[in-house]
Amino acid sequence: MGRMGGKLLAIYETLRAHYGELHWWPAKTPYEVMVGAVLTQNTAWGNVEKAIANFGDDLAPEAVLNADLTELTHMIRPAGFFNQKAAYLKSVTQWFEKYGFDVTAVQREPFARMRTELLATKGVGRETADSILLYAFGFPTFVVDAYTVRLCDRYPIDAGKGYEAIKAHFEGNLERSAEVYNNFHALIVINGKEHCKKRPACEGCPLSETCGRCGV
Ligand code: SF4
Repeated sequence: MGRMGGKLLAIYETLRAHYGELHWWPAKTPYEVMVGAVLTQNTAWGNVEKAIANFGDDLAPEAVLNADLTELTHMIRPAGFFNQKAAYLKSVTQWFEKYGFDVTAVQREPFARMRTELLATKGVGRETADSILLYAFGFPTFVVDAYTVRLCDRYPIDAGKGYEAIKAHFEGNLERSAEVYNNFHALIVINGKEHCKKRPACEGCPLSETCGRCGV
């Protein structure tokens, strides 16, 4: 293994020993990852699943591009903010269309340009862009979300403030690997849902022995 930060690596290994390899993202196709990454903004994952189920076997980028906005809005209603999100789905799908809806065509492009393009796409912020780049296209880019920030605050992990600082800290202290970033982010999310919630449930948390916040 390459350059590793001791504390982060220890956290990663502890979570991995507890939860295993999670093989995210829960989606059938890379395009479904893109759709899920947009729909999950400000809502629970269960609502995203309901919205995606409304497409049946027809969650193809062509179908989303061809759907009229009213129809699309109706389909994704369970995910909330449906007017905005329908427009966001259209814009992210238009971005994908530039590459012929071809995953390998995107993978051949330089990462930095793909990230810049996605960030310039309506409805795509940093977390959504990195989720798409990592989980749909396999680029090694670390995803920072609210669970990551909370873990950093509590443990604590001195990762700095703000999305880009935290992302850089994780990337700078871990092997540069889409596989590691994939699993680590997924592990942080699952531990955040099970233990490191708004009100932490430290009992049984795999990090409880090393976490400075435990029992405080
Ligand atoms: S021990 Fe408590 S505060 Fe620390 S990571 Fe686990 S749940 Fe969060």
